[in-house]
Amino acid sequence: MNKQAQLYEGKAKKVFATENPEMYIVSYKDDATAFNGEKKGTIVGKGAINNRMSNMLMKMLEKNGVPTHLIEELNDRETLVKKVSIVPLEVIVRNISAGSFSKRYGVKEGIVFAEPTFEFSYKNDDLGDPLLNDSHALALGLATSEEIATIRNMALTVNKLLKEYFLKLNITLVDFKLEFGRLTDGTIVLADEISPDTCRFWDKDTGEKLDKDRFRRDLGNVEDAYQEVMRRLTEGN
Ligand code: UDP
Repeated sequence: MNKQAQLYEGKAKKVFATENPEMYIVSYKDDATAFNGEKKGTIVGKGAINNRMSNMLMKMLEKNGVPTHLIEELNDRETLVKKVSIVPLEVIVRNISAGSFSKRYGVKEGIVFAEPTFEFSYKNDDLGDPLLNDSHALALGLATSEEIATIRNMALTVNKLLKEYFLKLNITLVDFKLEFGRLTDGTIVLADEISPDTCRFWDKDTGEKLDKDRFRRDLGNVEDAYQEVMRRLTEGN
């Protein structure tokens, strides 16, 4: 399958058409952004790591009954995926307080929740991805109530599966963001990526951050952290 016209360039990926109208090629970049694009940089090797890691995780999720957009990895940075139209909701699941949750509610990072939290942001860079609830999403016509119920169930299933999977690699899954898409027939599938760009990973023993917070907060050793998660995933398989 070959790349045709570039359809879209986002902050971390490009999307291309293919000769098959139902398939796209996603190409992962090394570009990193944070704080709604205000902070920009490069994480060398990130594109290849996120491509491979996301595909490994999506395969594991598929095996456990979660439908995803994944078709097949084409090379280091490129993956063939099913064509979807993205539901403009950022779906965030949290197991432990961190990031914007801690800031918004004025609590320290590291509070372990008895039950995971679930929230939506409106995927809209111009507005800074504002938090919104189900009724807002419905009022704005972003998704139907059936789609919202499906997305919630799928996101919580993904959390259970990922949490367990990363625990075996001695990694605590703190929180993550998912995006969902509609196939041509309307079926909801997991899309976008699952990587250290979109998850918070803490080493289970030391609490060391192994994700994009190293870039956001200028903690150094950003590349090493991405490689370390990839190393554990590869060795665990
Ligand atoms: N996240 C993301 N993209 C976004 C916002 C958040 O991938 O545009 C991820 C982020 O990496 C973290 C989780 O979603 O794993 C929760 O992020 P939070 O709401 O705490 O926002 P942040 O602190 O990243 O601004």
